[in-house]
Amino acid sequence: MARQPALVETAQNKTQAEQALAAPKDLRAYLQKLIERDPKQLMVVEKEIDPVFEATAIVDQMRTDPRWPNFPAVLFRKIKGSSIPLLINLQGTYERLALAIDSNLQGMVEEFGRRENAPVPTKRVDRSQAPVKEVVWKGADADVTKLPILRHQELDSGKYITSAVFILRDPKTGVQNAGIYRSMLHGPQEVGFMTGAFQGGNYILVEHRERKQPMQVAMAIGHHPCLLLAGTTNPPGMGGELEIAGGLMQQPLEVVKGETVDLDVPARAEIVIEGILDPSPENVREEGPFGEYPRYYTGIGPFPVIKVTAITMRRDPIYVDVFNASSEHSAIGGLARMGFLLNRARDVCPNVKNLYLPISGVARNHAYISMKKVADGEPHLAAFNVMAYSPATKHVFIVDDDIDVTNEADVLWALATRFQADKDLVTINNSIGSRLNPPTYGYRRDDKGTLETKLIFDCTRPLSAGTFPTATRVPPEVKARMKPGDYVRPLSEGDLAYIRGGK
Ligand code: MN
Repeated sequence: MARQPALVETAQNKTQAEQALAAPKDLRAYLQKLIERDPKQLMVVEKEIDPVFEATAIVDQMRTDPRWPNFPAVLFRKIKGSSIPLLINLQGTYERLALAIDSNLQGMVEEFGRRENAPVPTKRVDRSQAPVKEVVWKGADADVTKLPILRHQELDSGKYITSAVFILRDPKTGVQNAGIYRSMLHGPQEVGFMTGAFQGGNYILVEHRERKQPMQVAMAIGHHPCLLLAGTTNPPGMGGELEIAGGLMQQPLEVVKGETVDLDVPARAEIVIEGILDPSPENVREEGPFGEYPRYYTGIGPFPVIKVTAITMRRDPIYVDVFNASSEHSAIGGLARMGFLLNRARDVCPNVKNLYLPISGVARNHAYISMKKVADGEPHLAAFNVMAYSPATKHVFIVDDDIDVTNEADVLWALATRFQADKDLVTINNSIGSRLNPPTYGYRRDDKGTLETKLIFDCTRPLSAGTFPTATRVPPEVKARMKPGDYVRPLSEGDLAYIRGGK
């Protein structure tokens, strides 16, 4: 008979769970959780390395090397020219992002969609409660070249800050908006501000330009991964991202007043850079090329420059870097996009089971959707809605609900064995796509423009075509009692003698 847990035990467990929930979430709390789960997911480099290409050269080679499974995050203790250590690739896999929302690869999209729909207001704390105020650099001391800023990809135009969540105030509504923008290092107190035309940061910049008002900027570097995830979401209207960060963390994001700007900055960030941007059209500098998410150099042009007014940080901060044009660049926005698109696919097909944007498709171009189909042709509805809400998504693969969409080999198996192009492929020409995707064409087919050809691969078994063969499997009840760990061991001396001697 199963032993009933004692009441006192239950109460203790509950207290521990409550404490864990109440403990403030930040970079340190997340790293602690990651190390407890699997210490091999965080590696360390002790030797001094140069910030120009050397960090990314090491990390890039670890991506597919089985000596470092799961493409770990790497902490560089000593970067030449800085006293601050650097952490890169923390968000380099969907598995580590899933851990940030207490989930796993299979469950993370559903969980993200659920938490994104439950935002939590920010909580203002006193500066004595704000670790990010432990050290304050102002005036000429606010020198960004003292930070370990990297040069990443071969043809990048310089060193870039890649992990900053920019907090800006919309002059029209007064609300704070947060987003991630690439920021080139121009000088000791000058950094770039590069946005796409229809990003929140650009609407706010244009509004300041029209009002001839300087734009206040705060750049938060290093926090719980949920802050970066929230920075890639697109809540309707202006603002809402910091509240989504609270929803994702399931606790309010603690904020504190800026030193030199009238903005609420994350109190538990590692580092915050504050600055003022003169929005006049003359205050621009050449920026780019830069390795972008499709893993090509794109987006070159004149962009505005921020004048740094203060840098605040923890006493022993960790500078966090996001490896551009690498899986980390795709994964952060990918999870947010998946959570949103799963909800949109279910708007039209409630029987959609899961949705996945693989890193191989740069977390945008390819979507895998699984569903329990009730009518032939129904999968197209889910695909249409996903493409409508995500113009960059150009190839949608729909599979039956027995396929795990997070397993690319299984999705390709469904394509190989359940798909016939003449009846299962849908082609949509002249459809708006991503300007950053290299093969995108213009209205004239040889022009570079914003149009792409979309494909829907219906890899579901036909409902109406009689009996489709049954997929093979080993009896699951036998697998449940035959665990390899209970049976399998390495070769022994006796085994080797037997193999050599043939006796
Ligand atoms: Mn926004």
